[in-house]
Amino acid sequence: MTNAINAGFAHNARPFLYGPEEAAICEALQSGYYNHSAGTDRFEAEVARFLGVEDTVAVASGTAALHVALLSAGVGPGHEVIVPSFTFCATVQAVLATGASPRFADIDPCTLCTESPQVLEALTPSTRAVVPVLYGGRAVDLAEARPLLSERGMVVVEDAAHAFGSYSGTVRVGATGEVTCFSFGPIKNLTCGQGGMIVPRNGAEAATWRRLRSLGITAPAAARASLTTYGVASFGLRVQMPSLNAAIGLAQLAYFGRAETKRKALWRRYAAALRGLAGLAVVDVDIDRTVPHLCAVRVLDGRDQVFRALRERGIGVGTHYPPNHLQPAFAHWRRPLPVTEQVGRQIMTLPFHQHMTDADVDHVVNELRKVVRTEVRR
Ligand SMILES: *Cc1c(COP(=O)(O)O)cnc(C)c1O
Repeated sequence: MTNAINAGFAHNARPFLYGPEEAAICEALQSGYYNHSAGTDRFEAEVARFLGVEDTVAVASGTAALHVALLSAGVGPGHEVIVPSFTFCATVQAVLATGASPRFADIDPCTLCTESPQVLEALTPSTRAVVPVLYGGRAVDLAEARPLLSERGMVVVEDAAHAFGSYSGTVRVGATGEVTCFSFGPIKNLTCGQGGMIVPRNGAEAATWRRLRSLGITAPAAARASLTTYGVASFGLRVQMPSLNAAIGLAQLAYFGRAETKRKALWRRYAAALRGLAGLAVVDVDIDRTVPHLCAVRVLDGRDQVFRALRERGIGVGTHYPPNHLQPAFAHWRRPLPVTEQVGRQIMTLPFHQHMTDADVDHVVNELRKVVRTEVRR
């Protein structure tokens, strides 16, 4: 195994390029327009078409997408935002960026998502918004909590960073009528290098986000060229998606069908091979409807030993995620979350990316079998 470091099983995740990305970046470079420009507009339109929605708003990252969506919903100091503790820390940091406080919620033990019962448990009079996280790519349906959330004027902002391409029922995530945030970071289902996107509920919302992402400036860059001034209408951030990143995304989107097929096939191969292995449970992602971002398992006993043993064997396992409510940065908002804490001790993600072959999956499974057997016997 001389080339083990480059083997598919050695990496927990890796970006995948289809080929035309380099030429697309060169073209964008030569255009001379590097900030938000025509290429970004084109990417917005193409993603809207792909999702089956009217419009999308591109931003610099998934974190910026959450930040902009929450800010425009009026979330700020004195408010609480319900977020799962079991997520990437970006979800929580986006809440803090608005000046609001995170209200950590527990998760369903099967989906590892914060669902209606956990949302309802976490509600307080200060709750202003809910950020469900579509863990692993599976859709979250908050229908049961919806009437109460609407009655109290709360906004739902989906963190669908894992879920680009997944379905919720018969429509794509993003086309359900919720405010939905995607990430196009390096290892997501589709990458722009860095990037994010928000799906608006109406034209007014989209216009607000477009101002917020570009320093509050009203006239689009093209129109500004013929004006002697420009309008600054409101507070704003600089979180546009540069055309260089949009070019990568546009090139990737044309091949998304391959991502869909490959990711589902890898996940199914893992699930079939691991079924019935004692001491281990595969986290279900509703694979028929989901374009999976992760293959997560729960190691029921001795996760740390299993993790270490696999790393020693060159297997790129990961932990997505260490619970946020136990992180020093968020200690102020800590409260007991029994399911999250148990899952946090058991969770392990297997190497999962589009460079992997069936043989890579089989290798991971074989090593996992050996290690779990040894650790269980101990
Ligand atoms: C990646 C990710 C984000 C943040 O997206 P960036 O594009 O990296 O800013 C937010 N939430 C979750 C669950 C993520 O995995």
